[in-house]
Amino acid sequence: MLRPDKTNRRNPEPSLLLAARTLLHFSRSPFLRASIFVLLCLAFATCLRADTISGTVKDPTGAVVVNARIEISGGDVSQPIVLTSDESGKFAAPNLSPGKYSVRVRKEGFDEIVAAVDLHGTADLQLSLAIAAQQTSIKVSEKSMAFANSDAVYRQLRDVGLGNTYRCEKFTLAMDAGTFELKSGTITLLGLVNNTETGAIFIGQGHFTLKPFRHIDTQEMVRRSGNPTAEEDFTEVVFRFTAGVYPQFSAALGSRTDTPSEAVTAFQHWKNKVRHRHEVPEGFTQAMFEEETIDNVDADVLAAVYNPKHPPFFNAYMVGTLHKDLRFLVRTRVGAIPQMDSPEEVALINSNGGGMDDGVWYSEHLISEWKAHTASSSEDKRLFATHHYNIETVIAKNNHLFSRAIITFEPLVPGERVLKFALLPTLRVTRVSDQNGQDLHFIQENKKEDGSFYAVLDEAPAMEEEHSIAVEYVGDKVLSDAGNGSYYVGARQSWYPNLNGFGEKALYDLTFKVPHSNVVISVGKLEGESTEAGFAVSHWVTPVPVAVAGFNYGQYKKVDFPDPITHYSISGYYLTDLPDSLRPYQNSAFLGSMAPGAMTKYALDQTRAQMQLCTFYFGRAPYENVEITEQPNFSFGQSWPSLVYLPISAYIDATQRWMLFGRIDAKFSGFVQEVTPHEVAHQWFGHSVAWASYHDQWLSEGFADFAAGLFLEHAVGPKWQKDYIDYWERQRLRILEKNNFGVSPNDAGPLWMGLRLESPRTERAYQGVTYSKGAYVLQMLRSLMYSDQGAGNRDQAFIDMMHDFMESHRNSAASTESFKAIAEKHMSKQMDLQRNGRLDWFFDEWVYGTQIPRYHFKYDVQPGNGGNVKVRVELTQSEVDDQFAMFLPIFADFGKGMVRIGQLAVVGNATRTAIFNMDQQPKKVALNVYKDVLER
Ligand SMILES: [Zn+2]
Repeated sequence: MLRPDKTNRRNPEPSLLLAARTLLHFSRSPFLRASIFVLLCLAFATCLRADTISGTVKDPTGAVVVNARIEISGGDVSQPIVLTSDESGKFAAPNLSPGKYSVRVRKEGFDEIVAAVDLHGTADLQLSLAIAAQQTSIKVSEKSMAFANSDAVYRQLRDVGLGNTYRCEKFTLAMDAGTFELKSGTITLLGLVNNTETGAIFIGQGHFTLKPFRHIDTQEMVRRSGNPTAEEDFTEVVFRFTAGVYPQFSAALGSRTDTPSEAVTAFQHWKNKVRHRHEVPEGFTQAMFEEETIDNVDADVLAAVYNPKHPPFFNAYMVGTLHKDLRFLVRTRVGAIPQMDSPEEVALINSNGGGMDDGVWYSEHLISEWKAHTASSSEDKRLFATHHYNIETVIAKNNHLFSRAIITFEPLVPGERVLKFALLPTLRVTRVSDQNGQDLHFIQENKKEDGSFYAVLDEAPAMEEEHSIAVEYVGDKVLSDAGNGSYYVGARQSWYPNLNGFGEKALYDLTFKVPHSNVVISVGKLEGESTEAGFAVSHWVTPVPVAVAGFNYGQYKKVDFPDPITHYSISGYYLTDLPDSLRPYQNSAFLGSMAPGAMTKYALDQTRAQMQLCTFYFGRAPYENVEITEQPNFSFGQSWPSLVYLPISAYIDATQRWMLFGRIDAKFSGFVQEVTPHEVAHQWFGHSVAWASYHDQWLSEGFADFAAGLFLEHAVGPKWQKDYIDYWERQRLRILEKNNFGVSPNDAGPLWMGLRLESPRTERAYQGVTYSKGAYVLQMLRSLMYSDQGAGNRDQAFIDMMHDFMESHRNSAASTESFKAIAEKHMSKQMDLQRNGRLDWFFDEWVYGTQIPRYHFKYDVQPGNGGNVKVRVELTQSEVDDQFAMFLPIFADFGKGMVRIGQLAVVGNATRTAIFNMDQQPKKVALNVYKDVLER
């Protein structure tokens, strides 16, 4: 799972982003704050009628609370009347005189409540207990909410008006790769905020140019805009910046003039644009930038107003002649597009909804970094490091979440006071407090607006010290009911306030309280289980830092599946009933015979085999346990640290799938074959070794896919060849098959572009390239490193490389460049084609390039000396440039199946011949039999 949100997603059908979106939009129930009901119940109690006080005590899920202690005092009673609630949660105190009473209800694990009763006749109280505040607060106090969106400087920014206007003629503003020519017009400054300049509006005639510094970016710009540079005439631009950038503007300011009405409308349009969030995104940029980390520009600017040393930024929002919403962003430290897991500081985004040219046109490091050779995917973009999350979550019967998270962090940049979290906008923060329990200001606008969550510290925290804040939040859309005790778990990374996403690892201490019929399976190790007032409580702790926390939830049955070889603890959780989506089929003979327990054993058997295989090839898993859970989604699996979600399709056999589809769907069968080994392998790739940026996600998804191939080669028995060759053929087609626009995923751009490959014309390009081509790149390295002679394991050099890769990246995310360095350390002499100890040739071809060769092969057999035979092979490579080099594996069958006899190098569009001396006549000689090398 990984980012994808964008991360460990696997879905053969809709494109990645649409699939991700779907998950968040199953449930459309209106947002309700359940905690309000607690207050309302008490309020109702005061207006009921008299002489007997009776009542029912319930918990927040609506279940009755037995044995609660009720004390009634006041009226004319001399001592409190003490009662306990019965098995129906009820109590009654008859024969009271009219008067004013107080009813106090206590029960361990809940907050005490007191109801005031003005008794005239009978009063029947509905008393709802709240979970005790020290365990999780679900009370929304007006006092805490007074701290929402009310920080004084934030209010100034949010409501800022226009300041003075100046003429501007023939002024050029250069910012890294971007240049603004302000030909003729006016510049209106925004009003000062805390004596700080934070923005300006240009109205008039201007032109923007972006000239990429690097070749790979020029090629991408051609794919995106049709030109090697981006060129755009504009009529209005809104600029937002840190104070240090302002002097570059002041140079453009001519004489004072009146503020044009266009400046007022331009500013209003800009606000409408950046403050509005599309609930259902139309395209890539909306899906990417309007998620749970949508920029609240005012909150981002607030960070800079509060910290004069805030890393500088400069954001320009252009209304162009051709492109109506073109955004040029230069943001040091946090990165221009933090949503894309990228430290790259400079970006150009064409935000155009579902338009064909919508997308990220440019994302790159500062040119100054390239010139200084310091540009790197591993740059730290964090402002704060998170060390520890302690989260208590109550899931009520209506699937609402009540949570309290204590987040322990350390500042990485002096003076920073604003923390930005990823949190699903439907989860509403009710209180933020510091380690002394003092309320802190926080920002979370409406969920239909720029509703990201930011916490504002009262003062800059001391460096090199740990600090903590507590965040209380309630809401929905994390869970939606899939029927019969199964649930879709959405908001996979943002069900809690998540500071740096997959960008760092932290320790988690997680407590879940859920209706007792349901089970939670969380990341980490189960430290304890109990029941408390109708809730099943489970406590999970991660023994080592992990990148993300997740959980699965439902009416699960558990099976343990020990592994006597590796000694990992493996458990499976399955649902005994079908979710609603499959209910129409429940009476069919095929699904009726569904045996989830048996199929769980099958999935666990696969898991165990893959754990053993991955341990052999890649080293020990990062966690000693793995929990395999079924989920109601049909075509979606996901991996968490020590926790795997498998789609329900992995629990249905091929005959049942045939009945559901009414045909044999080879693509879907392929997905089902790959999903378990792929998700299990993510324990290594993605979780043990994380990826540094969106460029490097193939090191997670591609390598997990590679491991699924390894599984088909080694773990399915003696007749593995067909499934294995089919698997690589599927991968080849996923890379090369053209869509309705005549564009294949490979045509969309190089592997290194990652998520940016996705566009309306190149649907599924991210999957086809990051997963399938990523898998192929590792397989080709394995083929190059394979030992055709000698004893022992022929894969040993490859295995050594992978063990080294895992070991050396345990505490730091892997980048394409850091993986390349490991590969160079372990490559064979033959692979050092350039005789410089580097694999530039291989990475330029397969990772930074898009060429895919075509091969033609023939051979003949002639008698040799002493009964030997001479096999003359002829290999032709085409459809590549003259530098393109590759080594192709040659195979021969001497009657016991194909065996590899060697590799043959070929460079450019050329034919290469070679002679192999053999001591017996081969039945057949062939090229690339197991499809180790990607070819057209
Ligand atoms: Zn994956």
